[in-house]
Amino acid sequence: MPVTLPVKDRFHLPDGMIYLDGNSLGPVPRGVEARAAAVIGEEWSDLLIKGWNAAGWMALPQKVGDRIAGLIGAPAGSVATGDTLSIKVYQALGAAVHMRPDRRVILSDSGNFPSDLYMAQGLTRLLGQGYTLKTPAPEDVAYAIDDSVAAVMLTHVDYRSGRLHDMAAITRKAQDAGAVMIWDLAHSAGAVDLDLAASNAEFAVGCSYKYLNGGPGAPAFIYARPDLIDSVEPVLAGWLGHDAPFAMEPGYRPAMSTERLRVGTPPVVQLAMLDAALDAWEGVSMADLRAASQRLSQGFIAEVESRCPMLTLASPRDPEARGSQVSFAFDHGYAAMQALIARNVIGDFRAPNIMRFGFTPLYLDEADVRRAAEVLEEIMKTEAWRDPAYQTRAAVT
Ligand SMILES: *Cc1c(COP(=O)(O)O)cnc(C)c1O
Repeated sequence: MPVTLPVKDRFHLPDGMIYLDGNSLGPVPRGVEARAAAVIGEEWSDLLIKGWNAAGWMALPQKVGDRIAGLIGAPAGSVATGDTLSIKVYQALGAAVHMRPDRRVILSDSGNFPSDLYMAQGLTRLLGQGYTLKTPAPEDVAYAIDDSVAAVMLTHVDYRSGRLHDMAAITRKAQDAGAVMIWDLAHSAGAVDLDLAASNAEFAVGCSYKYLNGGPGAPAFIYARPDLIDSVEPVLAGWLGHDAPFAMEPGYRPAMSTERLRVGTPPVVQLAMLDAALDAWEGVSMADLRAASQRLSQGFIAEVESRCPMLTLASPRDPEARGSQVSFAFDHGYAAMQALIARNVIGDFRAPNIMRFGFTPLYLDEADVRRAAEVLEEIMKTEAWRDPAYQTRAAVT
């Protein structure tokens, strides 16, 4: 049944809180807590080891992968789940460079999330032999693609500014130059209307604790284009990617499916929670979601710019060039965000001076956006951010 957004009653949201940080950690969808309790209190408690078969634990990674595939424009069977996003980035990069053995460059951009760049640096160090990572500015990356590039690895929506790369155009450019395309969808899955299959990209990766609301530490996902899957090199050749894990063979033989991108034992409780969390998408049209996200974020920009002239928009103004978040630069951004959080409007801060706000149409509406802008205006007008209590940085900003 198609639904009208928002669907707030599908989530537990603390009373009075305006949550603009679903781009970092989504809230708890209803049903998740009961599912986790059932996995622990019934399945694990009563079935113990029998749970792997009797409760379908071993089949969960593929089941959840198929549900995520439906949200990113990928066919069933093309998405594997497990591990963390950093691990999935490494798997995609390793497989991609293996496909272009005569090329030595991994191309990303300087705005990419540090862990993606660190994983690429670790891989190039391990490979040696002249492998390098190049990171031009995001706006220059399309021009930096040439026939030395083995893999182009980009994050579709920039985590700081929300700037969105043109997935179809860059993929075409990469493939015309003979490079393999990897998209990181960390800030796209569940936020943007995606047609991954139509983009023709070889690989995509992402996490499920942001817009997909899977909970802290929820498993990541990796997509491989279906025509490639039987030839993808599993650089992390764990036993659960083996064709017959329980044959306990001494030599690795990859599964002839996306299963080969699994590594080790699946995180059953987190996967079950994610499975339940994905129920929140029932009946949601991704086109509607994108339209609502653009409405909310355009509304927020207009409100903030008219109320808070001291803040500078640090996201593209064109909604088509932006994901589902809006950032403002402010020199005292950390303290200002602490002041906002103290008033129950939750965003986050990214160094050096970015105040970041995520727009999640499943549980936000226009009134929330207006209220958030009003509170921000009060903090700016009174300079409430000067309070010493807001100056000390916590470990997680
Ligand atoms: C959130 C995020 C990560 C985090 O990786 P983990 O291994 O899940 O901690 C990596 N890359 C990007 C682009 C992200 O946005």
